[in-house]
Amino acid sequence: MNSFQEFDSSSNSDTKAINLSAGNTSNFTSPPPPSSSSSPPSSSPTTLSRYENQKRRDWNTFGQYLRNHRPPLSLSRCSGAHVLEFLRYLDEFGKTKVHTHLCPFFGHPNPPAPCPCPLRQAWGSLDALIGRLRAAFEENGGKPETNPFGARAVRLYLREVRDSQAKARGISYEKKKRKRPQHPPPLPPPNNAKIVI
Ligand SMILES: [Zn+2]
Repeated sequence: MNSFQEFDSSSNSDTKAINLSAGNTSNFTSPPPPSSSSSPPSSSPTTLSRYENQKRRDWNTFGQYLRNHRPPLSLSRCSGAHVLEFLRYLDEFGKTKVHTHLCPFFGHPNPPAPCPCPLRQAWGSLDALIGRLRAAFEENGGKPETNPFGARAVRLYLREVRDSQAKARGISYEKKKRKRPQHPPPLPPPNNAKIVI
C-alpha cells in the first residue's frame, strides 16, 4: 500500500480543465478547456512516443478527475465502478452521435438530417483510452490484480458500448482479424472503404 504512488497534485496547477487530446483514434474529444494551446509542442525535450505521451496525458487527466471527485477518491481506493463513472463523465464531451432506438436514423452510418440523439465518446476511443490507463496504472506501481481498468465490469461495459454503437450507427467494429483467405479473392476491391477504428 505504501509503495503505491498517488498522483502528484503539484504536477498540474490547473485542476479544473481536463485535457484529453486525441490520440491515434479518431474522435476522442476533449472536455472544452478554453485553452489556447491546441496541441503540445512536438519538440518536447523527452523523445517519448506518441503513445507514451498520450498515456501520460490520460493518466494526468484521470488524476485530475480523482482530485475533483466528490467525495474525494484516492487512486488506491479506485474500483472498476469508479472507472465506469469516469467513462460516463467523458461522454458529456463526446462528439459521436449515437442514435436511440426511436430515432429514424437508428442504424444509419450517414444520416441525411440532424436528429436530437445524444453525443457520446466513440467506443474505439474509450477502448484505447482504457488500454493506456491500464498500462499506466501498473507503471505507476499499481498491482495487476487490483487494476481497476482491467476490472471485469469495465470490459463488459466496453463490449456493451461497442455492440450498441455498432447497431445504432450502422457500423461494424470488426477489426481485421480475419485470417487470410485460403484462396485469395479474384480481384482486390478498388478502395478499401471498411471503417477500422
Ligand atoms: Zn438520431
